[in-house]
Amino acid sequence: MYDVVIVGSGTAGMTAAIYVQRAGKKALVLDEAGFGGQIVFTSCIENYPGIQNVSGPEFADGLHKQAEELGAEFKVERVISIEKKEKAFSIITGVAIYEAKSVIVATGVKSRKLGIEGEEKLVGSGVSYCATCDGNFFKGRDIAVVGGGNTALEDAEVMSGIANKVYLVHRRDEFRGEQLTVERLKTKDNVEFVLNSKPVEVVGNFAVEGLKVLNTLDNKERMLEVSGVFVAVGHVPDNKAFEKLINLDPQGFVDAGENCRTNIDGIFAAGDCRNKKVRQLITAAGDAAVAAVAAIEHANKV
Ligand code: NAP
Repeated sequence: MYDVVIVGSGTAGMTAAIYVQRAGKKALVLDEAGFGGQIVFTSCIENYPGIQNVSGPEFADGLHKQAEELGAEFKVERVISIEKKEKAFSIITGVAIYEAKSVIVATGVKSRKLGIEGEEKLVGSGVSYCATCDGNFFKGRDIAVVGGGNTALEDAEVMSGIANKVYLVHRRDEFRGEQLTVERLKTKDNVEFVLNSKPVEVVGNFAVEGLKVLNTLDNKERMLEVSGVFVAVGHVPDNKAFEKLINLDPQGFVDAGENCRTNIDGIFAAGDCRNKKVRQLITAAGDAAVAAVAAIEHANKV
């Protein structure tokens, strides 16, 4: 019997594990894909208080080391469902069933797909959802980044130092991401903003040969001759495994307020998987502290 099982090992999950272990309780962290979450796809974190500049993987490594050294257990297993027992919870994965007094859901989010022709077929052959991971394969080549949020802006910035030419394709003429990064991008000779433009097709048979975009103002199509397309159009939650037990909002985020409590006493939600406005590293860590303290209090009562 664990005190707290944490589902998801991104910033929220690992921070929660640190708090649980530091309270003298036993935490198990389950994640289908190793540890780190979305932050490992970020090349450079510049907005976490007290840290001027750190890479996403380095930040995640630090959290993992800290949690593990405190005694948190990590297992790479996908949680299929959670069942409420008389006093505790059963957390069912593909290979085992774990018992816990409290559960923290910290499943984060996954990359949203464009859903256009050619995208799925060419994943791994020029279509990527992670510039930090795949950027170096496109050294000296022409690429497109799609999206207008911070991820797309950061990807474009990273790729401007690697690729020959970077097209930043956004469906509006205003960016959602930070103005500071937009201004930096404007100074780069090899970055071209392709605004008011919707991607309609990734072209290529065995590898990406181009990205066809539609200008929404004049309805004209343009072919960007690129060998890489980095898709950074936001994220979607992945909480289907819990929908029978805990309330989700219409978009699939866990319905929990700032106190991180779900509709089930003893199950808490932390980080990007929760229904909230600001999804940042610092809010994931903040949620994790709130959820962990509440989960520990609940475990003490069981
Ligand atoms: P995001 O902020 O949700 O931005 C997604 C972008 O993709 C938006 O510009 C959106 O356009 C566009 N988009 C969505 N669906 C599209 C579609 N089907 N076709 C074309 N474009 C589409 O996502 P994000 O950039 O991944 O960021 C997620 C969160 O993480 C944000 O809160 C962000 O601030 C944060 N983040 C922070 C950092 C950092 O602090 N260092 C780094 C990365 C991300 P519209 O604008 O028109 O809706």
